[in-house]
Amino acid sequence: MTDTDILILGAGAAGLMAARTLAKAGKKVIVIEARDRIGGRIHTVKHGPSQQTMELGAEFIHGDLPVTQCLLEEAGIAYPHASANMYKYENGEFTTDGPLVEHWDELIEKLNALEQDITIDQFLQREFNADKYEGTRKMVRQYVSGYDNGDPAKASSFSLRKEWQAEDMGAQYRIAGGYVSLVDYLADEIKQAGGQICLNENAKQIEWQQGRVMITTKEGNAYKAKQVLIALPLGVLQAGIDQSASLSFKPTIPVYSDAIAAMGFGAVIKVLLEFDEAFWESKETEDMGYLFSEQEIPTWWTQSPQQSNVLTGWLGGPPAEAKTDMANDELLTQSVQSLANIFKYNATELRKKLLSWKIVNWTADEFTLGSYAYDTIAASEARKIICQPLQDTIFFAGEYLYEGTAMGTVEAALTTGLRMAEQILRFE
Ligand SMILES: Cc1cc2nc3c(=O)[nH]c(=O)nc-3n(C[C@H](O)[C@H](O)[C@H](O)COP(=O)(O)OP(=O)(O)OC[C@H]3O[C@@H](n4cnc5c(N)ncnc54)[C@H](O)[C@@H]3O)c2cc1C
Repeated sequence: MTDTDILILGAGAAGLMAARTLAKAGKKVIVIEARDRIGGRIHTVKHGPSQQTMELGAEFIHGDLPVTQCLLEEAGIAYPHASANMYKYENGEFTTDGPLVEHWDELIEKLNALEQDITIDQFLQREFNADKYEGTRKMVRQYVSGYDNGDPAKASSFSLRKEWQAEDMGAQYRIAGGYVSLVDYLADEIKQAGGQICLNENAKQIEWQQGRVMITTKEGNAYKAKQVLIALPLGVLQAGIDQSASLSFKPTIPVYSDAIAAMGFGAVIKVLLEFDEAFWESKETEDMGYLFSEQEIPTWWTQSPQQSNVLTGWLGGPPAEAKTDMANDELLTQSVQSLANIFKYNATELRKKLLSWKIVNWTADEFTLGSYAYDTIAASEARKIICQPLQDTIFFAGEYLYEGTAMGTVEAALTTGLRMAEQILRFE
């Protein structure tokens, strides 16, 4: 049986950031990871005939984000601009005119006047019920599903207000060599400071008392420590005992489990298609970055400003959840059909232009079971509970525990990992 100071469950951005901070402060740390790779929802691959770097999970730095950028600069990793033109495809036409959501200014004004939190669906029904707002209601729901991956029937209006007020659509970056460079850097730092990362170890049970924990894994191994930092995805923590990655506590921790259950975790399917040419480039879609449509797979983006024959498709929120069990072949058919409808192709002809494809249904992924967190009305209180260390012994970190405006991002995960590690160090 392995014994150490601190066990960290999960080698995603949050777990690795915490492990690096603790190891560099002289703690003995072991990171336990269920997959055969580090990174979690960061998964960069080289795929298809072009062997181009592709992001199956996180892809962008959404704005000027201090923890991510500080780390990249420290590691000497470049992050070039990835801002690009946004198009809408509506009524058979491409347009860049007008806001993505009609009556946007009025929407923000009414949200600002809201005194008590309600779901965004309730807000739309109350304030935007007239016929003239039909487009607004539809676009807001699509935005909450697509971007936040949330269920409009559960998502908090207060949280969306905070997010939309802070939105900076100007700054957007990709990481040279992919997000994997960042997690590889963290892993090297951990190892250099004497920390260990154990792959292929699916943590199943935590037996604990104040100052002692024992973790047993599905593979039959046991690890002991004084403290544990749990950096698993919210989807896994919410999962029933029948799920392969679910974790049980002995004794149980009902206050924390109830708080975990009260939070929102989204759904997403990401589609990567490499074609023999960039058939979407035309006068009508000059320098196209993003394309929003009403197709079955509604959102698409290019690798702009980099020249590439790869298109990325995105389906989020309840429509993605409804396809959790759909076979990838069927998702591919729907993806190609969506593009054929937009770019006026015959789907069979378009399919012949496809050189390679990759579909990641993150909601069906056993070690994630969703995409990223969105705020329900109860989320803010729940987060406060989960962020409180349990008898100085059990700690939690992960993107879902972040309080700022960059929620659901790598920045969110890194920030909570760093903060929790600092808190553990203060307990000495
Ligand atoms: C499709 C997609 C696109 C995204 N795009 C962006 C983007 O463009 N920009 C951005 O900033 N963010 C993006 N995100 C969000 C970002 O990827 C996450 O917020 C962040 O990576 C989460 O890090 P984490 O450490 O909290 O969790 P994770 O990365 O999920 O790490 C948790 C780790 O725990 C492991 N694990 C699970 N169960 C067990 C178990 N029982 N035992 C041991 N280990 C276990 C998992 O394998 C995983 O490695 C995207 C996410 C998705 C899914």
